[in-house]
Amino acid sequence: MTMQSINPFTSQIISEYREYSSTEVEEIIQKVDQAFYSWKKTSFEQRAGCMKNLQAKLLEKKEELAGIMISEMGKVKREAIGEIEKCAWVCSFYAENAGSFLKNEPIKTEASESYISYQPIGTVLAVMPWNFPFWQVFRFLAPALMAGNTGVLKHASNVSGCALAIEQLVREAGFPENVFRTLLIGSSQVKNVIENPLIKAVTLTGSTLAGKSVASTAGSVLKKSVLELGGSDPYLILEDADIETAARLCVTSRLLNAGQSCIGAKRFIVLQTVYEAFKAEFVRLMGEAKYGDPLDPQTAIGPLARTDLRDELHQQVLKSVEMGATVLLGGYIPEGKTPFYPSTVLENVVAGMPAYHEELFGPVAVLFCVNSEEEAIRIANDTVFGLGAGIFTSNVEKGKLLAEKGLEAGCVFVNDFVKSDPRLPFGGIKESGYGRELSAIGIREFVNVKTVVVK
Ligand code: NAP
Repeated sequence: MTMQSINPFTSQIISEYREYSSTEVEEIIQKVDQAFYSWKKTSFEQRAGCMKNLQAKLLEKKEELAGIMISEMGKVKREAIGEIEKCAWVCSFYAENAGSFLKNEPIKTEASESYISYQPIGTVLAVMPWNFPFWQVFRFLAPALMAGNTGVLKHASNVSGCALAIEQLVREAGFPENVFRTLLIGSSQVKNVIENPLIKAVTLTGSTLAGKSVASTAGSVLKKSVLELGGSDPYLILEDADIETAARLCVTSRLLNAGQSCIGAKRFIVLQTVYEAFKAEFVRLMGEAKYGDPLDPQTAIGPLARTDLRDELHQQVLKSVEMGATVLLGGYIPEGKTPFYPSTVLENVVAGMPAYHEELFGPVAVLFCVNSEEEAIRIANDTVFGLGAGIFTSNVEKGKLLAEKGLEAGCVFVNDFVKSDPRLPFGGIKESGYGRELSAIGIREFVNVKTVVVK
């Protein structure tokens, strides 16, 4: 079996990779498991030294690494460079903070001494998506390795070049051999890998369908899993919002990565008194964003990563329109081979339509006009997803209250759009998954929280 990397902009095959056989996969996992027993004995300072080298390598090679991403999945250049810089940030963040996040924590009891000790658990499998092909891997890799774990990566089949580049970078940064390895395998081999006794846990970032499959295998062999899945993030525009700022930030979030982001703003729920004003500005800004060559600095929206994904998105739009949704902008397949999709805005979307219930993984926005904040919250929460959400209001106290008590989501941003940040926990609820990445909480997902008591 082979896996192909195809440049979505040019439709050219960049490379073909032979899938590793199950025997090769087992051999690599054995080596990574062996590496764990010496890696776990290293100090935080030693690990931080390697992690700082990795940070430096990322920055030194950012043009080259961004280039691999651009050619394999069509990300526009400034976003690709930004992604590599963010990976460098997460490396330095955990290099500097892992020791304090995982230091022993004394707890007062009747014993002479009692404390929590955080210990690594072994080799963790990371199953990762193509949409942020470096960032998704680094936000797993940096905390996992700093905690003293080792890792194997099964990346999405269309970004094998990124997967191999990451493995090579880790090597060049001076990490011991086999502390982190890439497995070039398709999704059908993931079950076997999870069931391998040398694999101690699994993290998956991807679709809800893939999450359910990985979680059930992990459950059947009683291994810990963390799942970062899809989202259909709602943004509430309240009556007292600064409409221009809200429209600008909502459009930015919706179009980031050509709309292929789990935390992209996807549903815009606007109070009736400000609906027309918001709609006019939002549609104007969406209309200004042009698709084109990802290397052209003027391009706002690159091609979608694959033609099948673009066609699926268009079907979701078409079906919603057949059922009564209105197209305010876009909503067609441009001519030519490149899987572009224009910025698209829908309204009159109601329950039962794909655009109401499903994740729209591309530059398609849905506008809702509501009569009250209660109705806004009801629609926002009327989804199987619970990843991110936003609220625009000049009443910050109200914004905080709705963020804390109203919206069913793992992250809520008031007067801004949701972004992942190494310092803050990141993750979802409901079918957006469970567990958290990043921050002190993320690094503690794959450790043994060990209680030690001395009488
Ligand atoms: P995907 O099709 O689920 O693939 C993600 C990864 O899972 C790939 O490595 C894929 O391998 C593998 N995979 C697919 N089906 C599997 C199965 N049944 N068993 C085991 N592994 C399986 O998702 P995608 O299209 O790459 O990414 C888009 C999705 O990821 C969106 O839903 C998006 O919202 C979500 N996402 C979530 C977050 C978050 O943090 N919550 C971040 C980014 C993306 P193959 O490529 O070989 O099929």
